[in-house]
Amino acid sequence: MKLITTIKEIREIVSEWKKAGKTVGLVPTMGYLHEGHQSLIRQAHAENDKVVVSVFVNPTQFSANEDLSSYPRDIENDLEKSHEAGASLIFHPEVSEMYPDGFNTYIEAFGVTEVLEGASRPTHFRGVTTVVGKLFNIVQPDRAYFGQKDAQQAAVIEQMVRDLNFPVKVVCCPIIREEDGLAKSSRNVYLSEEEREAALVLSQSLKLAKKMLEQGEKSAEKIKQTMTEKIQQEPLAEIDYIKIVDHRSLQDVAVIEAAVLIPIAVRIGNTRLIDNFVFGE
Ligand code: AMP
Repeated sequence: MKLITTIKEIREIVSEWKKAGKTVGLVPTMGYLHEGHQSLIRQAHAENDKVVVSVFVNPTQFSANEDLSSYPRDIENDLEKSHEAGASLIFHPEVSEMYPDGFNTYIEAFGVTEVLEGASRPTHFRGVTTVVGKLFNIVQPDRAYFGQKDAQQAAVIEQMVRDLNFPVKVVCCPIIREEDGLAKSSRNVYLSEEEREAALVLSQSLKLAKKMLEQGEKSAEKIKQTMTEKIQQEPLAEIDYIKIVDHRSLQDVAVIEAAVLIPIAVRIGNTRLIDNFVFGE
């Protein structure tokens, strides 16, 4: 498995692939890869001749008080996990390669970025769209793979691709969970044993919501109340948001009649975790 660190080199390799008529899938990640990332790589491998996994902890999507410097990193493990899942190479640039001195251009999507994660993390999506736009220009993939785990991120990228005419097909892949229901995340390593147990309230509260919806409950308020009560029973958990939104516009829904997304963000100790599910698609 090759580890490519410069834009020049990845461009040369992809250009050779394209000349030979190969299709290219891109899986953008921040590394510390787990089975969630691997499921994206596997799907990319099944649908493309070549797969580029980018590993880049993107500073522009972190705000000053977030975990940029402590974000977990393990490039050896990333190489192994990527290889195992069928990647062709890893693109792992330095920050100075992606943001050289004088860098001063950003991509910003509006609307879908202003709610949920965007409301709690105001500069986050500007960083995401900028780095993903750059990766699309550098790698020029036919398809790019994102996880439903970050449902809003996938919606934001779809908006960017539509609005700016990137010739890329965006593919959204299902959430991969631990056996007990916790959504896999690189940030799960921050959790102590006690916090890891407490973190189960996220998936458990979503399960409760699913059950209510299946039984015909239409009131978003009632469902959110039940979820809030469930999470509040866990002393280590602090709710950032619990929302029920239209699956596409991400705007709040009061009466559930069409497909909805139920995204939640909960702090477990110092670790902020997100999870979600879509109902009625
Ligand atoms: P990250 O490294 O956290 O930026 O994630 C890179 C990509 O992997 C994003 O598109 C995520 O949505 C996706 N991803 C992360 N965790 C999971 C998971 N548990 N299941 C599916 N996709 C995931």
